[in-house]
Amino acid sequence: MAIKVVVSGAAGKMGQEVVKAVHQASDMVLVGAFDRQRTGEDAGTVAGVGFIGVEIQDDLTEVLTNSKAHIMVDFTEPGSVLENVFTALHLGVRVVVGTTGLSQVELEEIETLSLEKDLGAVVAPNFAIGAVLMMYLAQQAASWFPHVEIIELHHERKKDAPSGTALKTAEMIKEAWSDLETASADIPMDEWESLPGARGGNLEGIHIHSVRLPGFVAHQEVIFGLAGQTLTLRHDSINRESFMPGVLMAIREVVQITGLIYGLEHLLF
Ligand code: NAP
Repeated sequence: MAIKVVVSGAAGKMGQEVVKAVHQASDMVLVGAFDRQRTGEDAGTVAGVGFIGVEIQDDLTEVLTNSKAHIMVDFTEPGSVLENVFTALHLGVRVVVGTTGLSQVELEEIETLSLEKDLGAVVAPNFAIGAVLMMYLAQQAASWFPHVEIIELHHERKKDAPSGTALKTAEMIKEAWSDLETASADIPMDEWESLPGARGGNLEGIHIHSVRLPGFVAHQEVIFGLAGQTLTLRHDSINRESFMPGVLMAIREVVQITGLIYGLEHLLF
């Protein structure tokens, strides 16, 4: 039986790409589309794949109930995602979440509710397989490099900064550092900023720099430094298609699990 998918944020940049990918997947069917933009329009037409007979509607409960959806895929915004996830789980619909900006506490709330409802949830701040590998490799390299800075570069309309990927990379590096005696968090830096913010955000010693410019999609560099050498890991998503193999993988996986999986790496490794 085909997996019935509703896309939340279907009129957005990522949502349109998901509509396209689900429509083209032989084991899935798009049964509903939710957004407050482009309501009344056909989701396929909006996504550029032609008419598919699924209207974009602005009442999530109605969309999920009428469509008898198995899965809701959410690519909306940090201020909307939690409510959408709760709505879905309360209606017995599993969730795949790409929207970034969820806090640790909110992730725990999703985990608790999904376990309570005996449903699966996959949340991934980055669905690009190459980006997940970059984070994994950064965690490996961190064991040898006690100093690192992260530069993430995104399109100018990204709402949250730093990116979820940058935060997760920093967390993974810190995990690797927990065995090290000296990490950059412990190095006393004799520096001051004549322009506040020039050194980026400081997550417990890891500096994260967020660039927002037209022309970028989603990119990240992790630069490690050691006396006389640097190591740079870089990943570029040059278009939004790059996220779709990961999203489809998560949709196929979430029907089989109970509770929360946070991070695509847990589906890859
Ligand atoms: P976008 O183009 O702004 O699309 C979001 C869509 O959701 C918009 O049409 C927006 O409407 C709609 N929306 C937001 N809140 C809503 C609500 N409460 N009810 C109904 N519709 C609502 O954004 P995007 O570039 O597609 O990105 C979406 C999210 O995905 C962001 O958090 C981004 O960081 C994340 N992202 C994740 C990955 C990943 O791999 N995990 C990759 C890329 C992006 P309005 O315009 O009216 O707000």
